[in-house]
Amino acid sequence: MTEHAIYMLDADGHVRSWNAGAQKLTGYAEHEILGVFVNRLHDPTPTGIAPAEALLLAREHGRHEGRFWRRRCDGSRFLVYGVIEAVYDAGRLTGFAVIERECGKTWRNDKTRLAERQFRLLFQGVTLYAILMLDLEGIITSANPTGVKTIKGYDADGLLGRHFSMFYSAADRARGLPETALARAREQGPYQEEGWRYRADGAAFWAHVIIMPLREQGRLIGYAKITRDITGRKEHENEILAAKRLAEHRYRESRSLSAFLDNVIGNIPIRVLVEDGQTGQILVDNAAKQHAMTAPTIDASTIVERLRGVALKTLEDDDCRELRIGVDSADGAVQLKCRVLRVADEIGGGANLMYLVEDVTEEYRANEKIHFMAHHDALTHLPNRTLFNKRLAQALAASDYDEARVGLLLIDLDNFKNINDVLGHPVGDQLLVQVAARLRGALDEPATLARIGGDEFCVVVPRCRDIDALEALARRLIETMQAPMGVDEHIVQSGISIGLVISNGDIDNTEELLRCADLALYDAKRGGKGACSIFHAELHRAARRRLDLEVDLRRALEADEFVLYYQPIMASDSLTVSGMEALLRWHHPERGVVPPLEFIPVAEETGLIRAIGARVLMQACTEAAGWGCEATIAVNLSPVQFDDHALVDQVREALASSGLPPHRLELEITESILLDASRKNIRLLETLKSLGVKIVLDDFGTGYSSLHYLRSFAFDRIKIDKSFVKEICHDAEAQAIVKAITTLGQSLSIQITAEGVEDVEQATRLRTDGCSHLQGFYFGRPESVAMIAPPLQQRG
Ligand code: C2E
Ligand code: CA
Ligand code: CA
Repeated sequence: MTEHAIYMLDADGHVRSWNAGAQKLTGYAEHEILGVFVNRLHDPTPTGIAPAEALLLAREHGRHEGRFWRRRCDGSRFLVYGVIEAVYDAGRLTGFAVIERECGKTWRNDKTRLAERQFRLLFQGVTLYAILMLDLEGIITSANPTGVKTIKGYDADGLLGRHFSMFYSAADRARGLPETALARAREQGPYQEEGWRYRADGAAFWAHVIIMPLREQGRLIGYAKITRDITGRKEHENEILAAKRLAEHRYRESRSLSAFLDNVIGNIPIRVLVEDGQTGQILVDNAAKQHAMTAPTIDASTIVERLRGVALKTLEDDDCRELRIGVDSADGAVQLKCRVLRVADEIGGGANLMYLVEDVTEEYRANEKIHFMAHHDALTHLPNRTLFNKRLAQALAASDYDEARVGLLLIDLDNFKNINDVLGHPVGDQLLVQVAARLRGALDEPATLARIGGDEFCVVVPRCRDIDALEALARRLIETMQAPMGVDEHIVQSGISIGLVISNGDIDNTEELLRCADLALYDAKRGGKGACSIFHAELHRAARRRLDLEVDLRRALEADEFVLYYQPIMASDSLTVSGMEALLRWHHPERGVVPPLEFIPVAEETGLIRAIGARVLMQACTEAAGWGCEATIAVNLSPVQFDDHALVDQVREALASSGLPPHRLELEITESILLDASRKNIRLLETLKSLGVKIVLDDFGTGYSSLHYLRSFAFDRIKIDKSFVKEICHDAEAQAIVKAITTLGQSLSIQITAEGVEDVEQATRLRTDGCSHLQGFYFGRPESVAMIAPPLQQRG
């Protein structure tokens, strides 16, 4: 072993033996050194320790190693690294084994010594770097104590003799990274790398490492390895890197997002506009991309200009306002529904305005139509009851304000029902349209004409001067309607009746006005056709009375207060009683006997006449059946009884249950039956006649076209109205009429009764004129059944 100097010392430190290496290193001959104290080889320096001291340490610790300065026999110095082992034999120190190896250059002068010292101090003081010296194999030969402590957490001494790969992870070691690093440094010079390294406590740190090959006169003698902990920097770098990646990702994402949004916005079937709140620049407009879009042709600025003012003025943040605007476009007027929102601009900090615009023209038109339909009558296009009520309420509200009055006309077509039945509904409809046009033509602007029922019209006159003005208007309307109208090939004349009312302190709401107008109309119709009637308080009272009467009538029916009186009908040739007319009386508990004209109209209005009439039929037939003679019984029928089919059954039932032969029953009707729903009623009359009963036309001559009706049905008897009888002795015209009727009756073999005969003169005249029967006070007043003698015994 010539590389190492090995000395064996005795316990006192005298050299006992040495090897060839020692001889070579020191230059002494064996005999010169044996038995000599080891001090001979020592070169005393200020920093080193003396051999005696080193031996003492070895003795204490069993071993001492370190650097020692040695002196050759030629006096030159050299540094060795030596290990002194204390050698014991059976617990007694027998000596020391010293192994040394030269480890440094011989100092040439003090200058180099100083530099070396400085370097060593530097080497030892460096804390930011761990500096390791490696031998050719990578074994650590030295390390800067503070550096390795700080950076790697090791004591420098503990590292010596270990392989530098200890700092790597097992995986890196398995991949051969430490060897690669050394090879790189060896082949290419200083080599740098970064990587995870591990501290003594196992913690990882990101290391920057430089490995430098150390050469001496071209020969590689080892490596210096400088390690720095750059974990902090690495973390920072990582953060930057992550941020960069994120930014890139976001950018890519936002690019695809904005493409996506473009696509979405493009496909929203509404116009989307975004305006820069500051500059007014249009930032987004999806018009170009629109396929199914509404309102694409309208210029964005046109829309925005209309809306911006409102938006800026009234919109709070996060607020949304909906507006409707009409805009002219190339395709005509367009209705737009626009929602305006403020959208905070996250980048610019200001607020943008977003407009969502929909073309609602169709919807608008449909709504208008629906609105129109809801407020107008489909046939005449006049305002309907709903709109009429609204207008009336408006007019009333306005009149409250300017103390004006509101006039109301309620108009009823006089014989619309008849026209409708005779000529059919299509003609009726056309008639209504013409009536509406005519009425409207006769009205001035502020007045509203409405159709509020089948053949009922209404006129609201706001700011009506006075009742005279209103009446003048009513008369003008009645006059307008007097001229006949052509509907298809028909010439129709349809007069109107009008009820008038004007608002005042008492009549100040729509319901009340209408009710009053209704009462006035009722009054007008009672007065005859083509009339108008002004509402007055008495009508209210009359209405009240009618209402009371109705209640009373119902009660009377329950209480069976209706009684039949009988008036004889004489055969004019024999002047014997040929029959009786049943005439209804009401035996009222308080009012006494009430004549039919006082209660029958109300019974007809309320429909009570049906029940009353059925009872009259039954009673008359039953009583007549008990007379034990062939005298006829005449029963009056109200037109209202013709409105339901029960009539035929009621007649059949009365005959059947009384056992009265049908030919003894005479049913008296008036022209009005033929006037209304004529065809249906004629069929009804035919059915009745087929039962075997006789049909009598009462009050003949009072209607408009009595003669005409004689053609429409084969009546068994005509009753000349008492108004003619009354005049027959003084009035030539009446005479002529009676004569004409009797002549006609004879030629058609219809019996003629004259009613209302009050004296012998009339009786004589009528007999000569050819009336087959006579009836009147002259022959007998209507009497209760108890008062009348058996008919056959009665003589005129
Ligand atoms: P009408 O059918 O024309 O009846 C004849 C009316 O003339 C009766 O009036 C009768 O009392 C009256 N009268 C008879 N002779 C004379 C006379 O010489 N001079 C005058 N001035 N009058 C005479 P009344 O009983 O008051 O009946 C009035 C109307 O009431 C009847 O007129 C008829 O239309 C109706 N009426 C009466 N009873 C019934 C009934 O049971 N059912 C229906 N639906 N109507 C009836
Ligand atoms: Ca009668
Ligand atoms: Ca009569």
